[in-house]
Formats: sequence, structure tokens, C-alpha cells
Amino acid sequence: MSHTGEILSNEVLKDKYCRAVFRAPEICEKAEPGHFVHVMIPSMRDRILRRPFSICHAGGSQLTIVYKVVGRGTEELSRLKPGEKCDFMGPLGVPFSLPVEDEIPVIVAGGYGAAATYMISERSKNKGYLLLGARTEKDLILTDNYKNNGFEVRVATEDGAVGTKGLVTVLVKELLEENKGKNLKFYGCGPHGMLLALGELLITNEIDGELSMDQMMCCGIGACFACVVKVKDNNPDGWRYARTCKEGPVFKASDVYYGRT
Ligand SMILES: Cc1cc2nc3c(=O)[nH]c(=O)nc-3n(C[C@H](O)[C@H](O)[C@H](O)COP(=O)(O)OP(=O)(O)OC[C@H]3O[C@@H](n4cnc5c(N)ncnc54)[C@H](O)[C@@H]3O)c2cc1C
Repeated sequence: MSHTGEILSNEVLKDKYCRAVFRAPEICEKAEPGHFVHVMIPSMRDRILRRPFSICHAGGSQLTIVYKVVGRGTEELSRLKPGEKCDFMGPLGVPFSLPVEDEIPVIVAGGYGAAATYMISERSKNKGYLLLGARTEKDLILTDNYKNNGFEVRVATEDGAVGTKGLVTVLVKELLEENKGKNLKFYGCGPHGMLLALGELLITNEIDGELSMDQMMCCGIGACFACVVKVKDNNPDGWRYARTCKEGPVFKASDVYYGRT
């Protein structure tokens, strides 16, 4: 279940975002869009907990993750040099399903979400849209890579420095209006609030989608219940907890529970 991955490169992509490439053939072989790896950072063995990262690209024996430096673990990760090794569990979780027939993929992402959904743009035969939301220009990543894969990229920033001023849901509403009657398939990854807003919008418009409901997690294999989200259920409450590491992180938008209880 766990594999060793040797770092081939580890560089700043933009501002606080870094891209690390590992040699990890066993993981690449099975990796699908939306899968994640649970990484033990060598200098943090004393801290016990691994850190989860979505697989951004898996080609041949090379596995790429794109990560934002937010705390101790990602800081330590950013210091690793080529030749150093990490222990990986993975690929883990329920992946996204690729578009079929005439489905047009619409990826809605915020922050590192653009990395977590990137393999969809690589592996989908049908080309579509990336709707990317960010607070500022600094959080817009991989836009050229999506364009190179044939995706149209639309951007919203909260400060209005680039693209439409406001939240990414503005772009979603515009796209829905433009594409009435077309078979859109939505994918989401980003901050929890963005995913809930996207999910509710999809349900209102009677369109389904798939959301990567990333939550802070510990074990990564369904044992500890640290990473639960609420999903709909037939019990009297109308919801139950689901483990995002095992039953997700990708859930159908129609399965997520949006009530406030
Ligand atoms: C399935 C999954 C896939 C992910 N994929 C990516 C990815 O591709 N790129 C990327 O940059 N990040 C990704 N993350 C988030 C990443 O795991 C956290 O940013 C990382 O664990 C932070 O570790 P740290 O030690 O640097 O920060 P910490 O010091 O532990 O925390 C710093 C901040 O990050 C938040 N945080 C900590 N752990 C998590 C967590 N597991 N999930 C969400 N927020 C957390 C805390 O609330 C805190 O605000 C993913 C998370 C999940 C659950």
C-alpha cells in the first residue's frame, strides 16, 4: 500500500505554489483524475500525520503534485531536494469520472483545485471550460496548461485584478445561461464554501456534477473518521457522515447534504 517516491524536481510554480515531480511508477500506473496521495514528509516523521495531495499529473513513472505552502508540512515539503525520498500511500480515494458521449466538461476550481482537476483536462476526449476563482492573481495557477489541453479558461478574482470581479459562481451562472440545452458536466475542487455554493447552484438548475470535498484528514484509509462531510441519507435526519478519504473525496453534487443542521 505504501511506496517510496524519489524527488526528481521541486520548484516554485508561482508565489506560494510549488510543483514537485516524483519517480513513483506504482502510483502512476493506477492514478486517475481526482485521486490523491498521502505523503509522509521525511523531516516530519515525529509528527505522525501524513499530508494529502491530489495527483496533478501521472505519466510513465513520473508523478506530479502542485501544492501551496500553508504550514509546517508544506514548508518542509518545499525544502526537499532532488534525490530525497518520500513515503507515499496511494493512489487513494474515489476519482472523478471522465465525460462520456457529448458531455462538455466544465471544471470549477479555486486555489490548488486547478491542480486537483487538471488530469481531467489531460484525459478527457471532450474539451470544455476551466472556470477559475481566486482572491487575487497570485492564486491563479496552471491556466496556460489548461489552454494547451484545449480548454477555454475564464477567470474571476475577488479584487478584480484579473478577469471578472467577484466569485467564481458568477462565471458559472454566465456559462449556464450561454449553454442552455447543452450537456454540461461539472467538476469542482476548491474551498468548502465554493463547493457548497456550486453544488446548490447545480441542484437549482437540475444539473449534476462531481465535487472533490477535501477535508483535513488523518489516516487517509477510512479508519479514523476525522475527515467526514454530510451526505444525504434516507434516515429521519436526512443526512449521515461520509468519510472523504474513503467514500470521497469526489462525491456527486446531488449526494452532498446542503442543510444547515
Ligand atoms: C484529498 C485532499 C487533496 C488535497 N490536495 C492538495 C493539493 O493538490 N495541493 C495543495 O496545495 N493542497 C492540497 N490539499 C490540502 C493539503 O493537504 C494541506 O494544505 C496540507 O495538508 C497542509 O499541511 P501543512 O502541514 O503545511 O499545514 P498545517 O500547518 O497542517 O495547516 C495549515 C492550514 O492548512 C489547513 N489544512 C491542514 N491540513 C489540511 C487538509 N488535510 N485539508 C485541508 N486543509 C488543511 C489548516 O486548516 C490550516 O489552515 C489536499 C487536501 C485533501 C484532503
